[in-house]
Amino acid sequence: MNKLNILVVEDDAPVRNLITTTLKAHEYRFLTAPDGESAIMQASTNNPNVILLDLGLPDMDGIEVIKKVRTWSNMPIIVISARSEDSDKIEALDNGADDYLTKPFSVEELLARLRVVARRLAALQSDMNNANSSLFTNGKLKIDFAAGCAYLEEKEMHLTPIEYKLLCLMARNVGKVLTHTYITNQVWGSSWDNDVASLRVFMATLRKKLESAPDSPQYIQTHIGVGYRMMKVE
Ligand code: CA
Repeated sequence: MNKLNILVVEDDAPVRNLITTTLKAHEYRFLTAPDGESAIMQASTNNPNVILLDLGLPDMDGIEVIKKVRTWSNMPIIVISARSEDSDKIEALDNGADDYLTKPFSVEELLARLRVVARRLAALQSDMNNANSSLFTNGKLKIDFAAGCAYLEEKEMHLTPIEYKLLCLMARNVGKVLTHTYITNQVWGSSWDNDVASLRVFMATLRKKLESAPDSPQYIQTHIGVGYRMMKVE
């Protein structure tokens, strides 16, 4: 049923077995690599759909694997790390990872992240099929990039230029966690502390217009201390 082919990069054999057992039970296909060198080799020769990447590898830092893979591929990378420090997650995301899981994680959590990735891949695929279309649709949200307008339930949203820019950025990266630094660089061209504070304010006003229940947002998820992600809504 699940067609994703997943490259599992993990040097710790019990953890690797837990992951592959879970994948097998849910009919995912997978490859494994115990270190960075073989991960890069597997990623380049076997073209997996997703990489689950441990950051603490024996031969190199997982961040190096991300940098290397990003020189030729946009394949989704989910970082799995024992490090609970936000700075490690942020570094991985800023270097091109899509998402992260912190050890110890539950099997349910892992499967949920893979479903997000599957939806992200499907969205990328439909973008490619509609290369000429400048329309973005997600749940009740529609963006007409060419016209510079966003609609919610067919009604035009009244957004400030910054809110619109923010919404488009999140939409173009649907399914991917974007860090505060990345977002403020894209929206303001800089990333000072007060830009991050402004980002919170603009995100709050955008959510009021976008979410039917801003306290339990459906479209834009907060990753405390890290950033935001637009979820694919059915
Ligand atoms: Ca490790």
